[in-house]
Amino acid sequence: MPASSPERTACLECDLLLRLGEVRAGERATCPRCGHFLTARGVDWQTRSLAFALAAAVLLVMANSFPFLSLYASGLESVMTLPRSAVELYRQGYPTIAVLVLGPIVVVPALMLAILLAVLLPLRARRPAPWLVPGSKLLFRLGPWSMAEVFLIGVLVSMVKIGAMAKVVLGISFWAYAGFAICFTAAIATLDRVQLWREIEATSP
Ligand SMILES: [Zn+2]
Repeated sequence: MPASSPERTACLECDLLLRLGEVRAGERATCPRCGHFLTARGVDWQTRSLAFALAAAVLLVMANSFPFLSLYASGLESVMTLPRSAVELYRQGYPTIAVLVLGPIVVVPALMLAILLAVLLPLRARRPAPWLVPGSKLLFRLGPWSMAEVFLIGVLVSMVKIGAMAKVVLGISFWAYAGFAICFTAAIATLDRVQLWREIEATSP
């Protein structure tokens, strides 16, 4: 089916079955019955999403390579990196919490970024690839398990608590992770589910 041919789709809000026509760059489609947002085609959305994803990947590597924060209390300095915080939890007998900490804030976003790059690069080049469909399905399934922004808010809240007991200095990793969270959210937000599937269909042989 060509990308411009209207396929049947259901409104996620009121279940109205409708045929979506072609949505041009800069346009958005809403449900005629309830007004719920259906799809939008941003101008050059593939390049934008790819640019945000590449920036997010570089920032995520930085966030895992430098000190995240340093604690000064009673003359002692304790420097924490993101991977080390999970290792410490594991060592102290909390393997489940270690997985829960590192999974949604590093592993899942990294996996999603890898899939995003693996899908968008061939799509932009209009080249078919066998992983486009399974990769995109996995990408949308992983979405709810990525909690980069939740983690950042959690860190800021806990800093207020810890700040009363020790001096806390934010490291370069914190700022890299904050930048990563913004770029990652932008890369995913630029991606429209309907438009992505249409592009994959148009690219498929
Ligand atoms: Zn509706």
